[in-house]
Amino acid sequence: MRVDGACHCGAITVEGGPILSRSSSHCTDCQTGTGTAFRVSVPVPGATFKITGRPSVYLKTTADSGNPRAQAFCPQCGSPIYSTTPGDGPQQWYIVRVGILRQRDRLAPRQQIWCRSARPWLAELGSVPGNATQ
Ligand SMILES: [Zn+2]
Repeated sequence: MRVDGACHCGAITVEGGPILSRSSSHCTDCQTGTGTAFRVSVPVPGATFKITGRPSVYLKTTADSGNPRAQAFCPQCGSPIYSTTPGDGPQQWYIVRVGILRQRDRLAPRQQIWCRSARPWLAELGSVPGNATQ
């Protein structure tokens, strides 16, 4: 599957693929970086990754993984766009945030990582009453 999408304000668009895996991360960096409980992302091969607009990049030097990560986000609306390895020029992989992709309904995670820091109430979420319109 190829994917495409845009940030909340539309200043940045992305596309690429194929998508061969998808995961949710429960690491504390992802919780803080998304402002919510976990992050869902897909790796897009750098050779196919296209982006319009100019994201701002925050370099996280002490990621939970121990590796520095470049975190790209829209400077206008703040939408997280992707993370990648730091460095100049194209990178091998861009880990694109599923929430900005048009295909997000078809990108359910196939694995969960950093589960040791997952919010303990996530397992109960399926039984919380829901409302389809608000
Ligand atoms: Zn934006």
